[in-house]
Amino acid sequence: MQQETIALHAGYEKDSQGTMAVPIYMSTAYEFRDTEHAANLFALKELGNIYTRLTNPTSAVFEKRFAQVEGGVAAVSTASGASAIFSSIMNLCEAGDNIIVSNALYGGTTTLTDHTIKRIGIEARKFDVTDPTKLEELIDEKTKLILFESLSNPNTVVADFDKIVEVANKYNIITVVDNTVATPILCKPIELGCDLVVHSTSKYTTGQGLALGGIIVEGESCNRKIKGNSKYQHFNEPDPSYHGLVYADLPFPLFSIRMVLCVLRDLGVTASPFNSWLMIQGLETLSLRMEKHSQSALKVAQFLEKHPKVKKVNYPGLESDKNHKRAKKYLQGGFSGLLSFEVETFEEAKKILDSVEIFSIVVNIGDSKAIITHPASTTHQQLSKEELLAAGIGEGLIRLSIGLENSEDLINDLQKALDA
Ligand SMILES: *Cc1c(COP(=O)(O)O)cnc(C)c1O
Repeated sequence: MQQETIALHAGYEKDSQGTMAVPIYMSTAYEFRDTEHAANLFALKELGNIYTRLTNPTSAVFEKRFAQVEGGVAAVSTASGASAIFSSIMNLCEAGDNIIVSNALYGGTTTLTDHTIKRIGIEARKFDVTDPTKLEELIDEKTKLILFESLSNPNTVVADFDKIVEVANKYNIITVVDNTVATPILCKPIELGCDLVVHSTSKYTTGQGLALGGIIVEGESCNRKIKGNSKYQHFNEPDPSYHGLVYADLPFPLFSIRMVLCVLRDLGVTASPFNSWLMIQGLETLSLRMEKHSQSALKVAQFLEKHPKVKKVNYPGLESDKNHKRAKKYLQGGFSGLLSFEVETFEEAKKILDSVEIFSIVVNIGDSKAIITHPASTTHQQLSKEELLAAGIGEGLIRLSIGLENSEDLINDLQKALDA
């Protein structure tokens, strides 16, 4: 089956009511048939729902469906993208370990890896995803994962998958790819040789800016990397928190089973069944939307590139973009809806934001409605001119998340604002 078909049908078997739409199972807990049934569930002799912090039937449909679209063997949904990333780290690392992370990451992932996990004894080392020649030098026996974004938010940097995967496989280290911006429609990290894929489903998956959510998809290769690997000793020896269970002995995708039995159990970063239901609705139209977001973003980028007031346009779909070659190699069917451009001055940029009518000034991406931001006056206003430059953010940089509006309307809106 192709991805559009999977996104509509996978993972759902209609109940006795024949319900076409996936039902929302709003329930905290589930009744056991008898004491033996309860004992079997806790002992994993039988699989079933116990409590929604661990599993829920609506979330299970979303997880199975999303896993299939990504080409994975299992998935675990979480309360947000941030919690998907944090719990991936928690499932693989402990104090004293290190992880290797891209130098082009989402802001929240940067603060998580630079500061928050440092406080619990996990060090993050940075590498250049576009030129990972130094990656190997950063690895030691305490390195537990390599984290990067397929198409980064907000800088639209495309990772050099082949080189990263080659090094990760040489050292048997798990790769974690944040595929939020590209979505599985445009990029399939598991097919490209990666082990885990994480998402903020708050963006393109829900698609209309409706709810926070996250998901972690496990590729088949995870079991091979975990089983018998002393790096991931906690999967291979008895877990005292689960009466001596050895995860590696279980006939399941190991990352996901430990994620549920241990990380969700203890951290409770579980998705709400209602949000999982919203994500299911979003997933049904994701392929259509990504096609439209991508087509419109390319048209807007081409318009901006020709405008005399625009110094530079960053969009991986443009031949002039420094990520174009890798984007063509690793993405299919489009380049997503994020782009940025630069005008001469801070004042000019502010005037454009204050003049547009269709674009909303919002810090989000992946909404069905077009979004515009000026980092120098908002998200990055605390930075000095020098710090802005170091972060690659010019005073006149403007970011766009192209929505599903008519692309001519969006272009006219920008044209009027640029010429105002
Ligand atoms: C938004 C985002 C996150 C964080 O996700 P939340 O759902 O907001 O917690 C992580 N990674 C990327 C690439 C994002 O765009």
